Amino acid sequence: MKLGDKKPEKIPMYVYYIIVGVIIVVLNLLVVPAVQERSVQKTDYSTFIENVEEGNVSKATVDEDYIYYEIGSEESGAAVLCKTVKMDDPDLVNRLLDAGVTMDEVLPESPSILATLFFSYVIPIGIFILLGRWLSKKMMSSMGGGPGGMMSFGKSNAKVYVKSSTGIKFSDVAGEDEAKELLTEIVDYLHNPQKYSEIGASMPKGALLVGPPGTGKTLLAKAVAGEAEVPFFSISGSEFVEMFVGMGAAKVRDLFKQANEKAPCIVFIDEIDTIGKKRDGAGFTGGNDEREQTLNQLLTEMDGFDSSKGVVILAATNRPDSLDPALLRPGRFDRRIPVELPDLQGREEILKVHAKKIRIADNVRFDEIAKAAAGASGAELANIVNEAALRAVRDGRRFATQADFEESIEVVIAGYQKKNRVLSNKEKLIVAYHEVGHALVAAKQTESAPVHKITIIPRTSGALGYTMQVDEKEHFLMTKEELENKIATFTGGRAAEELIFHSITTGASNDIEQATKLARAMISRYGMSDEFGMVAMETVGNQYLGGDSSLACSFETQTLLDKKVVDLVRKQHDKALNILKENIGKLHELAKYLYEHETITGEEFMKILLAPAPALEDDKTQEA
Ligand code: ADP
Ligand code: MG
Ligand code: ZN
Repeated sequence: MKLGDKKPEKIPMYVYYIIVGVIIVVLNLLVVPAVQERSVQKTDYSTFIENVEEGNVSKATVDEDYIYYEIGSEESGAAVLCKTVKMDDPDLVNRLLDAGVTMDEVLPESPSILATLFFSYVIPIGIFILLGRWLSKKMMSSMGGGPGGMMSFGKSNAKVYVKSSTGIKFSDVAGEDEAKELLTEIVDYLHNPQKYSEIGASMPKGALLVGPPGTGKTLLAKAVAGEAEVPFFSISGSEFVEMFVGMGAAKVRDLFKQANEKAPCIVFIDEIDTIGKKRDGAGFTGGNDEREQTLNQLLTEMDGFDSSKGVVILAATNRPDSLDPALLRPGRFDRRIPVELPDLQGREEILKVHAKKIRIADNVRFDEIAKAAAGASGAELANIVNEAALRAVRDGRRFATQADFEESIEVVIAGYQKKNRVLSNKEKLIVAYHEVGHALVAAKQTESAPVHKITIIPRTSGALGYTMQVDEKEHFLMTKEELENKIATFTGGRAAEELIFHSITTGASNDIEQATKLARAMISRYGMSDEFGMVAMETVGNQYLGGDSSLACSFETQTLLDKKVVDLVRKQHDKALNILKENIGKLHELAKYLYEHETITGEEFMKILLAPAPALEDDKTQEA
């Protein structure tokens, strides 16, 4: 279901111009001459002479070819204009004078001039005005402004929603509690700005909803529109990219102008990556100048207004890495709201939300369905529910059953498998052990909760699992020991794979990179090795330009440096292996929990870790 779907069919503007043009031509070609014809009666010459002699003619005028004359007088209200062919009649003037006819210069033209004026100016202009009114009315209603005319006629075709118009609430978005919480805060700010300004807090200017396709980013934004009692401008990034150069920038300008007038309000730019792609300097060689102009305008506008006015900009993208860094700078989209694929519980909730719209049998087990649909996005789950309902109809049943759901998972997931990664059970198990490996090594080294949360739901970044590390205490100075521990933690994932599965996977590439970077920095920049001491062998360039480091040492030293790095990482890897071996019971227990629940919080983790070990210490019941 798409919201705001009373989109008028788009009839291009030029069609209207063509219609008006045709009307004008038709009037000029047909109607005007016809009117002129009708108002001037043709008579033959003898009738003319007769009329003159009977004294009927009051006025007359003569041009090259015709004689125009009026029968009856204007005072009596029955004047008829006639014309007749001009004959070679030398007596004509005398005859007219004898009959007392007034010789008038402009007489015959006057009625047709009026007609011409009327038909070729007044009517077309009238049509133009009416058409313009009708068009702008149409546009206003398509912008959702309603009869009150919420909106002025604008160039940006942003749709405006007010509270009642989307009808979507946060309760329609299942799961995604973190995102909802952050967005609720924004809504609250717009309703009670003084609550925040009393303390001196100001809202972020922009928030970026980031997550894979189909996770409900657009839905969340619409829920914000539904909850907030302020105008909500919604526009899709692709709508900025126009055929005419400069139009995109103009639209941005217009959008922000409207937003400023309507503040407090929310501006939502969906699929912002279409305009916010990295500028690569290709402009000189004929890159997409238009897009760049639009982006520049957006950046300027975002800098230009102060958030205290109460304009909050929301944007959504599923490709955050392709965004221009300038967009993500503080003061622009400085709040990122992750909208990730739902975990087991989230999937169950989403299924339930959508199942409310269809009729289901009483015994449908949503937890089972959610389990079977591992890795599915919200959109896919919505699709699964719909597919189940369709199956039921096809089979002539009045309720969707458990079997319907199970069948439809296969249809939907198999259909989507190419696009999205859905983990097999074996992979899921490996990822679970890998992530618990990291966390367990970290926990054992510091004897404290190492993680905020671990999930094994595939991430936007491509990582299969994810250990959210929070440093126990915020600090900038790190001891050599702490750094070594960190390296051990990085290697913990791979170590767990080796220990349990006796084989290694590609899942650790990022860990390896991080561990190597850290080890290298310890030796070459932090002076933490016996061999080199306090000698900087690498200097880091401008932090803002990607922090490229440049080597400043001889080739021999470099070789030695590389060897030292390898040694350092290996030593920590061995340490990690030992820690895991010593705690293999807990490793199994934690991995099993994570495998089943897909998410484990730091508290749950510590509870399991600190609980007395279960009876069988070396777990043979490993499922694969
Ligand atoms: P995105 O913009 O992230 O690509 P959408 O917001 O367009 O995804 O989601 C598409 C559809 O999927 C929604 O209209 C909704 O039916 C369903 N959906 C996605 N996530 C959720 C969710 N968390 N709760 C309920 N429905 C969801
Ligand atoms: Mg979307
Ligand atoms: Zn890892």
